[in-house]
Amino acid sequence: MGQADPHAWDGILAQLRVTNPTTWRRWFEDIEPLELAAGTLKLLVREPVQLKYLQHRCKQQFTEATQAVMGLLVAVRFVGEADLEQPVAAGPSDAATAAAHYPPSHQPQCEGFDDEMLICPDHLFENFVVGPGNELAHAAAIAVARKPGWVYNPFFIHGGVGLGKTHLLQAICQAAMYGSPDFRIYYTSCDGFINQFVGAVGAGRMDDFRHRYRHVEMLVIDDIHGLSTRERTQEEFFHTFNSLYQAGKQIVLSSDAAPNEIPALEERLTSRFNCGLVAEIQRPAFETRIAILKTKAALRRITLSNDVASYLAAKIDTNVRELEGAITTMQGLAAINNGPLDLELAKRAVGEKNGSSDTQLPSIQDIVDTVTSHYGVKLSDLLSKRRHRSIAMPRQVCMWLARKHTRYSLQEIGGYFGGRDHTTVMHAVKAVNMKRGKDPTIDQDVTQVEQQLLAP
Ligand code: ADP
Ligand code: MG
Repeated sequence: MGQADPHAWDGILAQLRVTNPTTWRRWFEDIEPLELAAGTLKLLVREPVQLKYLQHRCKQQFTEATQAVMGLLVAVRFVGEADLEQPVAAGPSDAATAAAHYPPSHQPQCEGFDDEMLICPDHLFENFVVGPGNELAHAAAIAVARKPGWVYNPFFIHGGVGLGKTHLLQAICQAAMYGSPDFRIYYTSCDGFINQFVGAVGAGRMDDFRHRYRHVEMLVIDDIHGLSTRERTQEEFFHTFNSLYQAGKQIVLSSDAAPNEIPALEERLTSRFNCGLVAEIQRPAFETRIAILKTKAALRRITLSNDVASYLAAKIDTNVRELEGAITTMQGLAAINNGPLDLELAKRAVGEKNGSSDTQLPSIQDIVDTVTSHYGVKLSDLLSKRRHRSIAMPRQVCMWLARKHTRYSLQEIGGYFGGRDHTTVMHAVKAVNMKRGKDPTIDQDVTQVEQQLLAP
């Protein structure tokens, strides 16, 4: 490649895409080959978050692809812009070399992130699909990233597994850092906080610990429900929280449950979590799931046809992570068979995952499909707040069917049907039972829908 031959680089990217289709991302195309010297190919990555991610997650794959294309035993080294201003000699560790050559204030800004807190470059606002289940959380996240400490403090996001909490937290970090590289953010998981606290107590280094957590502009902790039952850590977190809050610094938290529903959490923490904005993320609706699939595919520079996207979105209605997993499985199968990403493959990909007994149970989507076609109503009406009889009855039948034929909780069912709470679902179940008891036509009608749903 000599002075970085762009053709060879294109070949390496293409090779990587074939050998590691699920790792490959559109933004890899922004990497700039610099030079091949002393057996090392230097690659310039201008975004600090991407740089750190590549160094930690992708070195091996890039090295193998480079060696395969060039037929040489070369090493790959990712460098940032900071390494350019003052070129540094190739060393054993990029991070260590950079740290040795730059005063702290000039180090690349993800310096606050340890391994545990690696940010995924995909987790940007622009890659987050907004739908009825996450509008508030998304809008508030953007506001917080624009004006940390000013609008919603603390900002607390909660919701089920794989619904985008971590994505939003990381998008806030990336957006807040963008354009203000000196802005100090500390992003970690609750486990990270606990482990560091326990380590600091054991080593008698509480000053270091407090300095790390209290001298930041923004503290972001993922999965804060992990504090449940951890009394001493809760106490420490309480003081961390107060210290930042009083200084007007932004605090962003995520959790699998609302503040009041985190078991064994001290009341004083619950009330602090509730004093800013608490936003819930609910399951994505069908249309949102399709849009998410398309966004994820675009990040990998692949296209999913409408029938494939609809099929996957209908089959997987709980967890966004599983939607993405289906794309990965499809890519894997396609690589083995050297075939297209078509509907057939989608069926195989999902079939292989859901081999369990759960396949016997109808999905929410099956229920929606059956009810909308039986009553001739639209999905958007079912999810809307409209209370008209023509909509209210089909909606209640949906909830009744979901309660009877799925394993979802009342709360989950309510969340799916337009963000209603569990009492609404309980009421719907009772109402349907009562109407069936009173009116034989309704009874027959509901029995018919149920049979349609369960028909093979
Ligand atoms: P959680 O932290 O809530 O368990 P994650 O943030 O890890 O969930 O999300 C799981 C996966 O689903 C991630 O790849 C994330 O990018 C993706 N995801 C979730 N919600 C959305 C959304 N609305 N738009 C795009 N991707 C999403
Ligand atoms: Mg998460």
